[in-house]
Amino acid sequence: MVVNFAAGPAKLPEEVLNEVQKEIVDYKGLGLSVMEMSHRSPEYLSIHTETIQSLRELLNVPQNYKILLMQSGGTGMFAAVCMNLMGRTGEADYVVTGSWSAKAAKEAAQYGEVNMVIPKTAKYTSVPSQDTWKVSPNASYVYYCDNETVDGVEFNFVPDVPGIPLVCDMSSNFLSRPVDVTKFGVIFAGAQKNIGPAGIVVVIIREDLLGFQMKITPSVLDFSIAAKNDSIYNTPPTLIIYIMGKVFAWIKKHGGVNAMYENSIKKSSLIYNAMINAKGFYHCPVDQPVRSRMNVPFRVGSETGNDSLEQEFLKAAKAEGMIQLKGHRSVGGIRASLYNAITIAEAEKLATFMEKFFNNNK
Ligand code: PMP
Repeated sequence: MVVNFAAGPAKLPEEVLNEVQKEIVDYKGLGLSVMEMSHRSPEYLSIHTETIQSLRELLNVPQNYKILLMQSGGTGMFAAVCMNLMGRTGEADYVVTGSWSAKAAKEAAQYGEVNMVIPKTAKYTSVPSQDTWKVSPNASYVYYCDNETVDGVEFNFVPDVPGIPLVCDMSSNFLSRPVDVTKFGVIFAGAQKNIGPAGIVVVIIREDLLGFQMKITPSVLDFSIAAKNDSIYNTPPTLIIYIMGKVFAWIKKHGGVNAMYENSIKKSSLIYNAMINAKGFYHCPVDQPVRSRMNVPFRVGSETGNDSLEQEFLKAAKAEGMIQLKGHRSVGGIRASLYNAITIAEAEKLATFMEKFFNNNK
């Protein structure tokens, strides 16, 4: 068995894969697979409704919030958020703390005026304190990314922007810690990290923010249309929604988001401590208080990375069954992604390997 430290699509719980395998040809004795069912059939509709309901329970989503399942990918959401919300005032605030929020801000500039809340930096390694932010009172919303998957920068607070809806990309730390949904206007998360295979984005939106879509908004990206049609305006990715429902049940069975949070602290501490113990051999560029629990980027051998040692690290890790540890192509180095499905034993295995690799190469 390999340990898959991929950033996404990423490891899914083995229990979920085994259940899916059992049901893939014949779902509950109906004689057909979920992927062969009509999306309007009662059998599929109950899967769809239960999946949404189970997410509502896991995250305590209040009744005045709609849960939508959209098909645009996270990147599609960068545009959809603008088309659905920016029309309120024609401008929006973006807090850019990494490459995904930078992409979102760039996309948004196509639809209205974008205010940069914090100064641009050459590298993404920190979250400036909120008292330095320049928030515009006329912004339709304030946008940020809770966990920057490439850079390993994770917010350790929820921004306080009274009177302005907060829009948050939680793609890479969704359901890895409890969230007070009432602090947000919109939360969205692509599935392919913590909650399922690629192909769906969950959107949680406060009801009073529906109805402000621009005229140009395509029907499939229109939050109001999705809300009115329970996310079955057109054919949804039925198989993915079914698998996502299984992941939600798995999270519930294993203690819910509180347990996911506790485990994430244990797993990420194992890796960060392995770095501390190696006294500078490994280098994580991110400011300590905002180091991600989900994506741990680091360099090997020096602050900027020793290329041949990093290649050797990846090769030796692979020989021990640990794969997909290569950092994102834009930053290089190593990145260990520790989503919910990664076990503590798997994180321990990586930490032990890091210690051994340090001892062999110091
Ligand atoms: N936001 C974040 C935080 C991401 O990590 C990613 C992709 N990994 C995206 C958005 C874009 O998602 P997609 O590839 O589904 O468009």
